[in-house]
Amino acid sequence: MTYDSENIFAKILRGEIPCNKVYEDDFALAFHDINPQAPVHILVIPKGDYVSMADFTASAPADLIVGFFRAVGHVAREQELEQPGYRILGNAGDDAHQEVPHLHIHIFGGKKLGPMLMR
Ligand code: AMP
Repeated sequence: MTYDSENIFAKILRGEIPCNKVYEDDFALAFHDINPQAPVHILVIPKGDYVSMADFTASAPADLIVGFFRAVGHVAREQELEQPGYRILGNAGDDAHQEVPHLHIHIFGGKKLGPMLMR
Protein backbone atom coordinates (compact mmCIF):
# COMPACT_ATOMS: atom_id res chain seq x y z
CA MET A 1 0.00 0.00 0.00
CA THR A 2 1.35 3.43 -0.90
CA TYR A 3 1.75 5.90 1.93
CA ASP A 4 -0.87 8.66 1.96
CA SER A 5 0.89 11.76 3.27
CA GLU A 6 -2.49 13.38 3.98
CA ASN A 7 -3.43 10.81 6.65
CA ILE A 8 -4.24 12.25 10.06
CA PHE A 9 -1.10 11.00 11.81
CA ALA A 10 1.10 12.49 9.08
CA LYS A 11 -0.64 15.80 9.75
CA ILE A 12 0.00 15.42 13.48
CA LEU A 13 3.69 14.69 12.79
CA ARG A 14 3.93 17.82 10.64
CA GLY A 15 2.26 19.87 13.38
CA GLU A 16 -0.71 20.71 11.15
CA ILE A 17 -3.20 19.39 13.68
CA PRO A 18 -2.69 19.12 17.44
CA CYS A 19 -2.36 16.04 19.61
CA ASN A 20 -2.29 15.42 23.33
CA LYS A 21 1.40 14.54 23.45
CA VAL A 22 2.81 12.01 25.92
CA TYR A 23 6.36 11.60 24.60
CA GLU A 24 8.50 12.58 21.62
CA ASP A 25 12.04 11.92 20.49
CA ASP A 26 13.89 11.78 17.16
CA PHE A 27 12.23 8.50 16.19
CA ALA A 28 8.72 8.48 17.58
CA LEU A 29 5.76 10.48 18.84
CA ALA A 30 3.30 9.22 21.46
CA PHE A 31 -0.06 10.82 22.18
CA HIS A 32 -3.39 10.03 23.81
CA ASP A 33 -5.98 8.36 21.59
CA ILE A 34 -8.84 10.73 20.85
CA ASN A 35 -11.39 7.96 21.52
CA PRO A 36 -9.90 5.99 24.42
CA GLN A 37 -10.89 2.33 24.83
CA ALA A 38 -9.27 2.03 28.29
CA PRO A 39 -8.29 4.43 31.11
CA VAL A 40 -4.86 4.61 29.47
CA HIS A 41 -4.92 4.50 25.66
CA ILE A 42 -1.84 5.90 24.00
CA LEU A 43 -0.71 5.69 20.38
CA VAL A 44 2.96 5.52 19.43
CA ILE A 45 3.91 6.33 15.84
CA PRO A 46 7.28 6.29 14.09
CA LYS A 47 8.63 9.43 12.46
CA GLY A 48 8.58 8.17 8.91
CA ASP A 49 6.23 7.30 6.10
CA TYR A 50 5.25 3.72 6.96
CA VAL A 51 1.80 2.20 6.63
CA SER A 52 2.23 -1.06 8.51
CA MET A 53 4.59 -3.16 10.60
CA ALA A 54 5.50 -5.22 7.52
CA ASP A 55 6.29 -2.05 5.57
CA PHE A 56 8.22 -0.53 8.49
CA THR A 57 10.35 -3.56 9.31
CA ALA A 58 11.17 -4.14 5.63
CA SER A 59 12.00 -0.56 4.70
CA ALA A 60 12.93 1.58 7.71
CA PRO A 61 16.54 2.20 8.74
CA ALA A 62 17.71 0.19 11.74
CA ASP A 63 18.06 3.20 14.06
CA LEU A 64 14.44 4.15 13.42
CA ILE A 65 13.20 0.61 14.10
CA VAL A 66 15.17 0.45 17.35
CA GLY A 67 14.18 3.99 18.33
CA PHE A 68 10.50 3.32 17.70
CA PHE A 69 10.40 0.20 19.84
CA ARG A 70 12.44 1.89 22.56
CA ALA A 71 9.86 4.67 22.58
CA VAL A 72 7.02 2.16 23.05
CA GLY A 73 8.83 0.66 26.04
CA HIS A 74 9.73 4.08 27.39
CA VAL A 75 6.09 5.19 27.36
CA ALA A 76 4.98 2.00 29.13
CA ARG A 77 7.57 2.60 31.86
CA GLU A 78 6.93 6.33 32.10
CA GLN A 79 3.17 5.74 32.46
CA GLU A 80 3.98 3.24 35.27
CA LEU A 81 2.26 0.43 33.42
CA GLU A 82 4.90 -2.26 33.92
CA GLN A 83 3.00 -3.11 37.09
CA PRO A 84 0.04 -3.74 37.03
CA GLY A 85 0.45 -4.47 33.32
CA TYR A 86 -0.63 -3.28 29.91
CA ARG A 87 -1.35 -4.43 26.38
CA ILE A 88 0.16 -3.35 23.09
CA LEU A 89 -1.73 -3.84 19.86
CA GLY A 90 -1.18 -2.98 16.22
CA ASN A 91 -3.83 -3.13 13.53
CA ALA A 92 -2.81 -3.72 9.93
CA GLY A 93 -5.15 -3.78 6.97
CA ASP A 94 -8.86 -4.31 6.47
CA ASP A 95 -9.37 -7.47 8.55
CA ALA A 96 -7.83 -5.72 11.56
CA HIS A 97 -9.86 -2.58 10.86
CA GLN A 98 -6.84 -0.30 10.55
CA GLU A 99 -8.34 3.18 10.28
CA VAL A 100 -5.25 5.32 9.95
CA PRO A 101 -2.70 4.24 7.31
CA HIS A 102 0.37 5.29 9.31
CA LEU A 103 1.95 2.59 11.50
CA HIS A 104 0.84 2.94 15.11
CA ILE A 105 1.03 0.86 18.25
CA HIS A 106 -1.79 1.15 20.76
CA ILE A 107 -0.85 0.95 24.45
CA PHE A 108 -3.79 0.06 26.71
CA GLY A 109 -3.76 0.01 30.49
CA GLY A 110 -5.31 1.21 33.69
CA LYS A 111 -7.79 -1.63 34.15
CA LYS A 112 -8.11 -5.40 33.80
CA LEU A 113 -8.06 -5.73 30.03
CA GLY A 114 -9.89 -9.04 29.67
CA PRO A 115 -9.35 -11.55 26.87
CA MET A 116 -6.80 -10.76 24.20
CA LEU A 117 -9.26 -9.99 21.41
CA MET A 118 -11.55 -7.24 22.63
CA ARG A 119 -14.45 -8.01 20.31
P1 AMP B 1 -6.61 1.88 14.11
O1 AMP B 1 -7.98 1.29 13.99
O2 AMP B 1 -5.62 0.94 14.72
O3 AMP B 1 -6.13 2.47 12.81
O4 AMP B 1 -6.75 3.04 15.17
C1 AMP B 1 -6.70 4.39 14.88
C2 AMP B 1 -6.86 5.10 16.19
O5 AMP B 1 -6.56 6.47 15.99
C3 AMP B 1 -8.28 5.04 16.79
O6 AMP B 1 -8.21 4.45 18.09
C4 AMP B 1 -8.71 6.51 16.83
O7 AMP B 1 -9.48 6.81 17.97
C5 AMP B 1 -7.38 7.22 16.84
N1 AMP B 1 -7.39 8.58 16.31
C6 AMP B 1 -7.91 9.02 15.13
N2 AMP B 1 -7.69 10.33 14.97
C7 AMP B 1 -6.99 10.73 16.06
C8 AMP B 1 -6.46 11.98 16.48
N3 AMP B 1 -6.59 13.10 15.74
N4 AMP B 1 -5.80 12.04 17.66
C9 AMP B 1 -5.68 10.93 18.42
N5 AMP B 1 -6.14 9.72 18.08
C10 AMP B 1 -6.80 9.62 16.91
